[in-house]
Amino acid sequence: MKGAKGRALTPRRPLPRRERRGSAVLTRAPAQGERGLLQPEWSPVDLHLHTTASDGVLSPSELVALAVERGLVAIALTDHDSTGGIGEAIDAARGSGLEVIPSVEINTDVPAGEAHILGYYLDHADPFLQATLAHRRADRVARGYAIVEKLRGLGIDINWDRVQEIAGAEEGGAVGRPHVARALEEAGYVASVQEAFEKFIGRDGPAYVPYRKFAPEEAVALIRRAGGVPVLAHPTSLPDWEVRLPSLIEAGLLGLECYYGTYTPEVVQPLVDQAAAAGLVATGGSDFHGGEPTAWSTTVGGTPVPLEVLDELKAAAARAKQPSDAAPSP
Ligand code: AMP
Ligand code: ZN
Ligand code: FE
Ligand code: FE
Repeated sequence: MKGAKGRALTPRRPLPRRERRGSAVLTRAPAQGERGLLQPEWSPVDLHLHTTASDGVLSPSELVALAVERGLVAIALTDHDSTGGIGEAIDAARGSGLEVIPSVEINTDVPAGEAHILGYYLDHADPFLQATLAHRRADRVARGYAIVEKLRGLGIDINWDRVQEIAGAEEGGAVGRPHVARALEEAGYVASVQEAFEKFIGRDGPAYVPYRKFAPEEAVALIRRAGGVPVLAHPTSLPDWEVRLPSLIEAGLLGLECYYGTYTPEVVQPLVDQAAAAGLVATGGSDFHGGEPTAWSTTVGGTPVPLEVLDELKAAAARAKQPSDAAPSP
């Protein structure tokens, strides 16, 4: 495996909670030659990662190699509307001691903003799940095309074939706005992906096109139907998430992503308390997409997630798979 050091993986004892959120954990990739100096302590678990199967930059094998190198115990590939990277990641992790959790992230629009639903330990071969995800990816292609058309109306001419190429659409990659952003950058219309979102394709931008209508409750039910654990991703992204929570729980939600990206302890702790009060598993991860960390995401293992989360998630998955606890049919 490229990049892996091949050393035996012994799960590192997680640091006490306070320290783990402190400076011992780097929230960005160490610069060349910096590693030895800072001795970064990576989080043992990262449950929010993207690959080339959606809008990430690293292939599933490259991501696994990085996680193995950093001594992680478990990772979850949470590509948007795709489980296409999971097989390759499981193969790449074989023999390394790293667990690859079959997962997904489903983005939905609600009146107040976006609700992203993560799904863990789902049966990714489930035909209904795959048919639904394939349908959503097809809708992403149509949406991507509509965005390119809207840009054209604004006098900005990027090549649709190039967007699909960047997305790896022919190989089943889920097309997303980041691919449009990279095409805009490549064509010289913007200096960065961030600028593309700010000027054109952000939610309030002139070339924004919403997703096909799909309620977050539908995403929750879909994940439950495939035996998975549905989790509300980065809750604070949705202004009225607390109002929405009861309806999501009613649909079968089992977790809340509390240890997310660059969330500070002041954000994390109240979320952990709310998760506990609602009987939800508190999960977490970096939302790494490859490349440099952003204002909200870190790097593989760069967001501190307690090791206990993994056991709690496994227990929730075992419960979710019991027929008696199955979510109501959508
Ligand atoms: P999509 O699923 O096509 O709507 O794209 C959503 C993805 O775009 C998110 O998962 C992020 O990876 C990325 N994204 C969203 N907002 C921004 C932003 N302001 N700057 C850069 N990337 C963003
Ligand atoms: Zn993304
Ligand atoms: Fe998300
Ligand atoms: Fe994500």
